[in-house]
Parts: sequence; structure tokens; C-alpha cells
Amino acid sequence: MEATRTLRSQRFMPVDQQRSLAGHYRWWVKGLSLIAFSWAIAGWLNETWFYGFGSPIGLNRYTEYALILVFGLWRIHAEKNPYTRKRLIFLVANVTVLWWLIPWLFPFIEPYVGYLGMLPAFPSLHTPGTISFFLVLVAVFLFGRRIICGWNCPCVAIREVVGFPFRHINHVPRSAWAWRLRHIKWFWFILYLGAMIAMTRPSNNITTGYLGFFALMVALPYFATFLLSPWIGNRGYCRFLCPYGATFGLLNRVGAFRIDYHAESCTQCDLCVKVCDMNIPVWKMGLAHQGRVDTSECMGCGRCVTECPTKSLSFHDARNWIRPALHQDRERLRALADWKHIDHRWRPAAFILILTILLWGADYYSTQVGTLGELPARLWALCGLPVSTW
Ligand code: SF4
Ligand code: SF4
Ligand code: SF4
Repeated sequence: MEATRTLRSQRFMPVDQQRSLAGHYRWWVKGLSLIAFSWAIAGWLNETWFYGFGSPIGLNRYTEYALILVFGLWRIHAEKNPYTRKRLIFLVANVTVLWWLIPWLFPFIEPYVGYLGMLPAFPSLHTPGTISFFLVLVAVFLFGRRIICGWNCPCVAIREVVGFPFRHINHVPRSAWAWRLRHIKWFWFILYLGAMIAMTRPSNNITTGYLGFFALMVALPYFATFLLSPWIGNRGYCRFLCPYGATFGLLNRVGAFRIDYHAESCTQCDLCVKVCDMNIPVWKMGLAHQGRVDTSECMGCGRCVTECPTKSLSFHDARNWIRPALHQDRERLRALADWKHIDHRWRPAAFILILTILLWGADYYSTQVGTLGELPARLWALCGLPVSTW
């Protein structure tokens, strides 16, 4: 009982004891992080370029996800912000199940729309043209970039759980020109638009060549920024170089997601800025834009909202269209993260149920539905249309 009371009181610490600020770590923690990053790169290089050691789990595309699981358990144990802990639990579980176990155990292929390329289903969350990618775009429009960049992306997972010793570098420098550098990502976004167009065209030397070039332009910075973390921070890739983050960021702007800011209660303590890994000038932006922190940069981690000592920040998304009074502020987010609360015990059960259904669906698809070409015809037939017209 006493322990529970202590735990609860720790969750509402005063500003000077907040736990979401980036820590400073000893050399061996940073060294361990760089070794893990290098190992993930070696797995990718071995499977993609060198084929030197076959494709064991310790040196293939799944090596990164195994490292996320191991380091993730460490970070979840060490995390002091309950909402961030909950996010890390979901993030590590999602990457482990959706990106590793299902593609590994049930390597079923998801059809592209308009292109005959093939990828295991869940990694195609990031692949333009796939059905799951379009569903993700809808979800991001309704709930914000956090759907992927906060809770589902292996990139954010490895950079948060392995790259955590370099979090403080995200805040160096904090100048206006550094903030302007965020626009670099639109160059990658234009390359990505080119890839989308190439996918809608018949496959030929030009489209195949461009898609290969685009894949390289994504993969090389993705892995190179692992090792650049001591200089550009653990979120350098997400901030400046990710074409998918730019796409989701665009939907952040046009969709329902934003952070609401209440100037009357804000003390301008700057804590929301200090905890933000994307370097967003949170309260200043809210002040300048009539209480709306509406930016393509926000990956919805919730650190600013859950740490604001005066509850001056709250999430806003599609749920507020239905319930305008819904106030997703510090108290609500922290209460949602309280796993001991009786009302919230169904959530892990629901999560496990959804994952079980996904696993079953993956198994059914891979064993019963069959090839890439059969699914559209089956959907066609389900609509009552003759398959011969497909
Ligand atoms: S910005 Fe890109 S790499 Fe980073 S979390 Fe979002 S989708 Fe993943
Ligand atoms: S919004 Fe909250 S955390 Fe940010 S400056 Fe104001 S009081 Fe501080
Ligand atoms: S503005 Fe807040 S929710 Fe968005 S990335 Fe920064 S800390 Fe996270």
C-alpha cells in the first residue's frame, strides 16, 4: 500500500524532479549503444549486400528487431514517465510482433495497388501503394503522426531504446537556423513522390532503376545516422531525412491532430521545449498561433503534455470531433498509463486479442488465400462481381 502511494506521488513530481529530460550517460553505455547500432547495420549489410554468413537471426534484417526487444526491456524498466513507459511497451511489442514475428513466421505477401512488387505484409506499413499503407494514412489523418512515429516504427524504436544515450544531442544546437534545417526532409519527400509515381507505371528499366535508387536513398541515411548519433542526436533521421515522416507530418497539418496550448495557465517554464526530441518550440508556437501547436514535426510522444506542471498542454485529435469536451491533458494521459487502474485493465487484454486476431489472419491468409494475384479477384467476387471481368 505504502509502495503504491509512493509510486503514485512519484508520477506527479514537481518540475525540478521531472524525469523526461534527456540524461547524461557514461562512456560504456554510449559504447554499448554504438555496438548495438553497428550490429544492426552488419545484419542489413550481410543480408542485402555481402551474403557472407548466410542469413542467421544474428545477422539479417531481423537482427535490428531482436536488438529492439533486448534494449527495449531495459528502457521500459528504467523509464520513469508512466505514459512514455506505456508507449515503449506498445512500441517494442508492435515492432516485435508486426515487424519481426509475423513476417518471419508467416511470410505472407501484401498486394501493392498498381505495382507488382512484393513485401512481407507489415513492413509494408511504410511502403506506398500497399493496402496497409493507405490504412495508416487514414489513421495518421485522424490521430496524428504518432500512429507510426510514436508507437509503431522500428526506426523510432531502435533510436529510442538503443540510441537513448544520445538524446541530449537532439537539443544541441537550439538555434533558429537549426530549427530551419527541418525543411531538408521535403527533399526526401519529393523523391518519395517520384517513387509513388513510379509504382503506378508499368514496370520497366526506368521505374525499376528509380525505385532501386529511392530504396538506397532511404536505407543509407537510415543506417548511417545510427553511427552519427553522437553528433546529430538519436532523432536526426526523423527530424531531417525521413520521407515517410514528412508524409505523416503533412497529414499532421491537414488532419485532426494538434496540441492545444493554454496561455493563461502557462508559466513559460520552458520544460515542454526541453523534453521535446524534435526540438519544437512548443509554448512559443502555441502563443504565436492562438493556442495551436500544429506542426508537421510533432511525433506525438506526449512528453511535453505529460510533463507540463500546469496542465497547459493537451492533445487534440479526431476524438474531439465527437467529444469536444474531451481534454487529453497531463492527468488524462497519466491516468491512461496507470495499468493498476481497474478501468484500464481491459486494455492489455484487448491489445493481446487484436494481436492474436492479426496472427490468425496472417496464418489464414498465407495458407488459404494464396498468391498476390488471387486476393483482388477474391475481393472482386466478394462484391458480387463476376471474376471473369477482373
Ligand atoms: S520519422 Fe520516419 S523513421 Fe522516424 S519514426 Fe517517423 S516514419 Fe519512422
Ligand atoms: S506549456 Fe507547460 S511546460 Fe511549457 S512552458 Fe508552459 S507551463 Fe512550462
Ligand atoms: S511537441 Fe510534445 S508530443 Fe510533440 S514531439 Fe515534442 S514533446 Fe513530443
